[in-house]
Amino acid sequence: MKTLITGAAGFLGSHLVKSLLDKGKQVIGIDNLSTGRLHNIEECLSHPLFQFYECDVADPSTLERDELKGVAEIYHLASPASPIFYQNAPFDTIAANTVGTHQMLELARRNRAKLLYASTSEAYGDPTLHPQPEEYYGNVNTWGPRACYDEAKRLGEVICYEYYQRFEVQVKVARIFNTYSAGLRNDDGRVISNFVTQALTGEDITVYGDGGQTRSFCYVDDNIRGLQLMMEKDAATGEIINIGNPNEISILEVARLVKQLSHSPSRITFHPLPLDDPKVRRPVIDKARQLLAWEPEINLEEGLSRTIAAYRNQLIVN
Ligand code: NAD
Ligand code: UDP
Repeated sequence: MKTLITGAAGFLGSHLVKSLLDKGKQVIGIDNLSTGRLHNIEECLSHPLFQFYECDVADPSTLERDELKGVAEIYHLASPASPIFYQNAPFDTIAANTVGTHQMLELARRNRAKLLYASTSEAYGDPTLHPQPEEYYGNVNTWGPRACYDEAKRLGEVICYEYYQRFEVQVKVARIFNTYSAGLRNDDGRVISNFVTQALTGEDITVYGDGGQTRSFCYVDDNIRGLQLMMEKDAATGEIINIGNPNEISILEVARLVKQLSHSPSRITFHPLPLDDPKVRRPVIDKARQLLAWEPEINLEEGLSRTIAAYRNQLIVN
């Protein structure tokens, strides 16, 4: 049985590739290497159960590739995910999540494959309901720098819905909340990679705004376990499920924690808050608990300690 992972050379994709190969699965990875790096899957490239193809999910020729025939499971992860990357490439971001999602769903339909779509907590925008259950429709600004990502993901979900309703493709939509660990590029721009890189190199730790905004951080192993359970469990078919850690923390507290855990001399400095930066974010994970018997196991202190140790060893390969 072949499993296709789009965005295989990215942060989550590369962790998923390794996890599935460890379980003896035959894995095909595709990636256009826009934000991902082959370095992330270097050790897998010679694995007998792994094939990698450099291609774009939104390119019509990708759907026709012989190598993708016969796939039974598709994890559709391909998309820029860091605000700096998606805001630099808004049209590619829109294409990956709309045209790309449509194409991967069509591939799933032709092959009677299951498809998991990596959506995002950004579907809730700057939420007016806190914490966020899946039933919440969200509060997204269409006229701002985050819209190309947020609205593209929301439309991606819509296309999943139509393929589920009209063609009975077994779709599963994971709304992923901020996930971290080693493997994020040092220049990825997301908060954990920024803070850990800054702390380890003695640079200022750059808090945007007053740092009072909150996020809920999920360690990558918990996320990858959740995505695989979604793929495995029939109960997740036709469902949107939050995959995230409900432990909420302010960004200033994260900066202090990273500084403390890495014994860093860095100063914490304050910078302008980006436009439309969500003020709070915390998942309700009752649905994941009920349908998947899933919940995160690794707390932030443990996850950050592992992340800091790994970054310390690797500085800077990217
Ligand atoms: P990432 O940028 O590290 O990985 C994305 C990968 O997709 C990269 O390897 C990139 O080269 C590839 N890609 C982008 N556009 C492509 C295209 N058109 N065709 C083929 N490949 C393409 O990001 P990530 O953190 O690993 O995120 C993976 C997925 O999970 C994304 O869809 C993202 O929106 C979603 N997600 C991630 C998080 C998180 O905290 N990491 C949170 C919410 C949602
Ligand atoms: N952030 C920060 N300093 C940084 C990078 C990010 O204070 O160097 C803040 C950012 O403004 C946001 C939070 O950290 O409030 C999470 O940002 P990230 O880009 O990781 O993800 P997202 O905003 O998409 O949740």
